[in-house]
Amino acid sequence: MLIKHVTPVEFDTALIVKHDGSGPRYTSYPTADRFAAGHVAQQYLTALHARQLERPNAALSLYVHLPFCDTVCYYCACNKIATKDRGRADVYLDYLEKEIGLVRAEFLTQPEVSQLHLGGGTPTFLTNAQLERLFGMLKSAFRFKPQAECSVEIDPRRLNPGALALMAAHGFNRMSIGVQDLDPAVQKAVNRVQPPEVTQSVLERGRTLGFSSINLDLIYGLPKQSAATMQATLRTVLQWRPERIALYSYAHLPERFMPQRRIETAEIPAPAEKLVMLKLAVTTLLNAGYVYIGMDHFALPEDELARALDQGTLQRNFQGYATQADCDLVALGVSSISRIGNVYAQNERDLDAYYAALDQGRLPLAKGLEMTRDDLVRRAVIHDLLCQSEIVITDFEQKWAVNFNAYFASDVASLIDLQNDGLVQVSPELIRITPKGRFLARIVAMRFDRYLREAKTAARYSKVI
Ligand code: SF4
Repeated sequence: MLIKHVTPVEFDTALIVKHDGSGPRYTSYPTADRFAAGHVAQQYLTALHARQLERPNAALSLYVHLPFCDTVCYYCACNKIATKDRGRADVYLDYLEKEIGLVRAEFLTQPEVSQLHLGGGTPTFLTNAQLERLFGMLKSAFRFKPQAECSVEIDPRRLNPGALALMAAHGFNRMSIGVQDLDPAVQKAVNRVQPPEVTQSVLERGRTLGFSSINLDLIYGLPKQSAATMQATLRTVLQWRPERIALYSYAHLPERFMPQRRIETAEIPAPAEKLVMLKLAVTTLLNAGYVYIGMDHFALPEDELARALDQGTLQRNFQGYATQADCDLVALGVSSISRIGNVYAQNERDLDAYYAALDQGRLPLAKGLEMTRDDLVRRAVIHDLLCQSEIVITDFEQKWAVNFNAYFASDVASLIDLQNDGLVQVSPELIRITPKGRFLARIVAMRFDRYLREAKTAARYSKVI
């Protein structure tokens, strides 16, 4: 499969060092740290009702957050609960059932779902009986399209016999496997010992069962990691040839994430070494035929993600890059974030608060945001920059009924240093991220983020690299 319409990527170490700073990942705009308590439940319900009236048959995405993990990986920044007690998942499913019931009651007819994602935590913490129960609950409330994309995050160390077959029988066809690094010393340093054979056997079993797109997560910048461990990890990973690879930068923020306090700071690679690892990984993946999708993501040319990039239909949502057009998202479970129309709504992050709300018979919403017209227009700009690497100004103006160069005059003017460094081309007709700029696309996107400019809070985010 030939990828023809994608801006190539050029790794320019000096420019990456120069522009490396903290910034949002833009899985949403406005970003979740802008959400506020207040009228979120009312806004969410109004958005659901408007959806019924205006687009009852529009595609719907579902996300289910399953927060439990057997053990804690020290690098982890997810919202999870460490326990070995499977009984806690039974209680959690009781509450999830209540939440599903409350959401379902807001729809007149059974909503049709085109995408389902199970994330966590560790979805495979659940026993097979608990997974069966969860699928039964979802299927009695929602109607799944025959070709729905159903994906699950897998921890190969915690996979019950028969779990993959069970998920395949329920229509799961995509999986994401946490790997991070295959070196035993690195794995020990982050408390995630996962021999390569364990990962390989899950991947092979998944393929046999018809999981057509398999993603592996890797991280660079972990303790005891070096260019040599990265090279060895990549050599093995490329033999497995997963359809997608996510390559994340480890952000050491022990003051925010407790498990990271167990990491020896002295064992963390220096920034210069981290950059060498990144360059090595990017070059190796590109030479092996992977397409750079954007931010941290790579995919084989025949994978849907690469095809969507090529065809200009790539999307970005809470799960990262995606292929389906901008779907409404109903998210279930502690801390999960829904988006219906112009409304973001986040559930309680604390398990007790989540349970307490459901005990009171109300949706467990804690905070959210109703997008203004300005939010929507800026969201579209950021989306186009991160998913298409360009904004064709006449097309944008037609779609959004704005005079682009007048509306964004100060934002466009702020691109001058990035333009001078060759990261972005700016003309009255077009804003285009160059090959050197693709790795720093979110730096370009940040210039259109009104909240960042007003609050000057960029330092609260993780670094780009
Ligand atoms: S990385 Fe995954 S398995 Fe490890 S603690 Fe975090 S959520 Fe749990």
